[in-house]
Amino acid sequence: SLLLDGKVAVISGAASPRGIGLATARLFAAHGATVVILDLDGQAAAAAAAGIGPAHRGYACNVADKDACLRVADRIVTEFGRIDVLINNAGITQPVKTLEIDPASWDRIVDVNLRGVLYLSQAVLPQMQKQRSGSIACMSSVSAQRGGGILGGPHYSAAKAGVLGLAKAMAREFGPDNIRINCVTPGLIDTDITSGKLDDAKKAEIAATIPLNRLGKADEIAGAYLFLASDLSSYITGAVIDVNGGMLI
Ligand code: NAD
Repeated sequence: SLLLDGKVAVISGAASPRGIGLATARLFAAHGATVVILDLDGQAAAAAAAGIGPAHRGYACNVADKDACLRVADRIVTEFGRIDVLINNAGITQPVKTLEIDPASWDRIVDVNLRGVLYLSQAVLPQMQKQRSGSIACMSSVSAQRGGGILGGPHYSAAKAGVLGLAKAMAREFGPDNIRINCVTPGLIDTDITSGKLDDAKKAEIAATIPLNRLGKADEIAGAYLFLASDLSSYITGAVIDVNGGMLI
């Protein structure tokens, strides 16, 4: 049966053609959801949504801009009457070392990866409270758990670790409203953010260190998001799901 039949699902950072967000939007639509794609470029977001089907929408929303988040949430509620699922997926990396982090790059990385999770959650939570139901899944990373990844940078690790704390605090606060809030912590996934920047030799070298001997696919993160978005996970909140091929064993 369809796991998200009749649900309205909002996914940030979902216009990138090879990205985790768009793979998630496609999977959610296949499970009966009406999907709203948010990304920096509104035209790209609208085109990505139209590519899935006529019922879906794509809007511009910079998640680091609180007013933009509030405006787009209003627009979605006006158009569809409800918001059942939020996937806080937007994120950016910057492969630099500690001594190279200047104040502007710290702000940029923390604004998108961490502040964006707060702002978009703040924008949808009042509607979910009215409904007395909702599920929010937030994108963290193995970089948060290992204190560094291949491409992230220490500020990225810090921001993604911040997402874990923020999500758990919100899960505690909004549990009584029947709103569940969880995180996913992917390992190295084959998208533009990562393998777009790695040559084949480097990818093979990394794959050899992973128990499943390969990078992950965007669809494999979408599957974890689907589980968290749907009633299959109805008693799970404040949890962190590792999707990393065994990287942390
Ligand atoms: P991606 O670059 O394809 O997707 C990121 C999307 O976020 C892009 O569409 C981009 O335009 C959008 N975005 C960037 N800044 C934004 C902003 N301020 N507001 C709204 N949208 C914005 O990369 P991806 O690999 O699909 O990444 C998705 C998420 O997964 C990110 O949060 C990333 O940090 C996280 N992640 C990725 C990996 C990996 O290995 N690919 C691992 C762990 C976590």
